[in-house]
Amino acid sequence: MDPVSGSNNPNPDEGSSAGAALPSRYEAQKRRDWNTFLQYLRYHKPPLTLARCSGAHVIEFLRYLDQFGKTMVHVPGCPHFGCPRPPGPCACPLKQAWGSLDALIGRLRAAYEESRGQPEANPFGARAVRIYLSEVKDGQAKARGILYEKKKRKRPTMVAGGGGGIGGGDGGDGESSGGSAVDAVAPPSKTV
Ligand SMILES: [Zn+2]
Repeated sequence: MDPVSGSNNPNPDEGSSAGAALPSRYEAQKRRDWNTFLQYLRYHKPPLTLARCSGAHVIEFLRYLDQFGKTMVHVPGCPHFGCPRPPGPCACPLKQAWGSLDALIGRLRAAYEESRGQPEANPFGARAVRIYLSEVKDGQAKARGILYEKKKRKRPTMVAGGGGGIGGGDGGDGESSGGSAVDAVAPPSKTV
């Protein structure tokens, strides 16, 4: 019961384009991830099938993905170790951010169940994978000086006496908001 009579609508945007027939972004991403993994298996040496895939293989896959990562993870010897905003460049390796891996595993776990339907044999739900992820989380939290648990809200800093125009060219919200969608329980629709 809300008496919303559209007389004084402060929001002028009428762009409520709901109900597109496209698959959700999550579904599309899940499918892409799944295909990537299957392709990884295809080129695996020695040959590996999905049925023989264990948690150790999943971890191997995650390590393999690091070469495509875009998140700098400082090694303990780096002067920027533990510094969230390093003042300069360094030669540390780029890796997949923990949040990306965590969300990825959630999607692959769901995709596996949809295609195989054997939750107890799901290598993506293996204990070793969980342990690996928590180690990555821990290590990256230390190396990057970022606590994943608490998201600190940044206050916009006013620069006194600057030449007007705070550009905000900071690019600071690159942190993917992974994770939250992972726990969403997929409907048990069996589409072969
Ligand atoms: Zn570094």
